[in-house]
Amino acid sequence: MAYDYDLIAIGGGSGGIALSNRAASYGARCLIIEKDPEMGGTCVNRGCVPKKAMWYAADMAHALRDAPGYGYDITRNAPFNWSEFVTKRENYISNINKYYVSAFEKNGVDTAYGLAKLVDKNTVEVNGKQYTAERIALAPGGTPTVPNIEGKELAITSDGFFELQSLPEKVLVLGAGYIAVELAGMLQALGADVSLAVRKKTFLREFESVLSERLSEAMQADGVTINTEFTAAKIEQHNGKLRVHGESGQTLDGFDQVIFAIGRTPLTKGIGLQEAGVEVDERGYIPVDKFQQTNVPNIFALGDVTGQAELTPVAIAAGRRMADRIYNNQTDRHLNYENIATVVFSHPPIATIGLTEAQAREQYGDDVNTYEASFNPMYMAFTEHKVKTTMKLVVVGKDERVVGCHMIGLAVDEMMQGFAVAISMGATKKDFDDTVAIHPTSSEELVTMR
Ligand SMILES: Cc1cc2nc3c(=O)[nH]c(=O)nc-3n(C[C@H](O)[C@H](O)[C@H](O)COP(=O)(O)OP(=O)(O)OC[C@H]3O[C@@H](n4cnc5c(N)ncnc54)[C@H](O)[C@@H]3O)c2cc1C
Repeated sequence: MAYDYDLIAIGGGSGGIALSNRAASYGARCLIIEKDPEMGGTCVNRGCVPKKAMWYAADMAHALRDAPGYGYDITRNAPFNWSEFVTKRENYISNINKYYVSAFEKNGVDTAYGLAKLVDKNTVEVNGKQYTAERIALAPGGTPTVPNIEGKELAITSDGFFELQSLPEKVLVLGAGYIAVELAGMLQALGADVSLAVRKKTFLREFESVLSERLSEAMQADGVTINTEFTAAKIEQHNGKLRVHGESGQTLDGFDQVIFAIGRTPLTKGIGLQEAGVEVDERGYIPVDKFQQTNVPNIFALGDVTGQAELTPVAIAAGRRMADRIYNNQTDRHLNYENIATVVFSHPPIATIGLTEAQAREQYGDDVNTYEASFNPMYMAFTEHKVKTTMKLVVVGKDERVVGCHMIGLAVDEMMQGFAVAISMGATKKDFDDTVAIHPTSSEELVTMR
């Protein structure tokens, strides 16, 4: 049967874009469908990119705070012009959106805008028009989860955070994941009075425990109020401000903004999965095998919608490898989801790869050893505000293979990528020790741990 396309990708975000461009570069006829007016998806429009811009702005606030320690006669009274910076940020994003469109033109990828829906396993409908393809890739990503509580419409999510035109004075962030701590840290640094409320005793619970302990100390030193064991049950207006009632009777009051950062929900409803016979799991994610294949052999899924390591480079890598395999005969090429390095853009940042100590012990029992260093980076020698750096290596076996590396502190976000290469290649503690240090840096601590 002759199809309109070799491949249709549903979703013009990190995964769909990477897949379509790579597939088209091998000569595949591709169509990419995006429901939003702009290509780029979550990362570019309401995720990593605007977030990192705000993080840089927040980091600048910390640099201003530290500047007197370095002999500069300035104070932090320099006001931050939120709306001016947001305009610059959005212009930057708009250029990325334009770049994607021109890359599609250059690579010969066709585009369509509108909500795509599967009609059957080879047919997709958008704006009343049907297109057929030999293969279909589902990359619709996810959306912020909003709890079904009274007054939920009074709060915003990370999407709403990026729409704010001015700095809210007093903010409550609800959530314990990386987006929650990132938003709380940025808002506090930029001048808001921030409270963070977590459902359990701490946040970032799936990370190495020392990281959340250190971050909790650092955030509180920056002025963030952390409320533990608080689950929002109701939000209401009270004296022109927002008041949030917790499930167990506590009340948090006086907020200008309340932000839900409690997780993300895959966008798998209403896109015709049933019509095409594609299975979803109980949380709404699409299960795939190592080749990103769903239970329907010609339908693939990639990125956040598969619920595995929900990160942009993961969606991109999965898409590109899929194209390499299908359209460039690279048999068995697929993404290995182990050893994916990631950074939390908190203040200070966190960088992590591999197993936590607890996970390693579960897997390797007593064969596990750890090395830890905690220190004041040299930068802090001259600043009034001190933020400690902590690094931890998790090693296994006689040869002490490094299976986990976990860091929090100044510049660890930029340190991790190189170490991730070494760890992915199977580096041992001895390989770390045999590497000559770069002095004076914080990263040298990783190769001098005893
Ligand atoms: C606040 C925030 C900060 C983040 N920070 C980072 C970070 O620092 N680093 C990092 O690696 N990751 C980060 N992420 C995660 C990252 O954005 C995602 O992992 C990544 O965007 C996933 O790519 P994707 O292609 O799976 O989905 P998306 O990028 O979400 O793209 C999916 C696209 O599909 C479209 N779509 C959905 N349904 C349909 C349909 N039926 N028809 C047509 N189009 C449809 C959507 O509009 C969207 O544009 C962040 C996310 C958030 C929310």
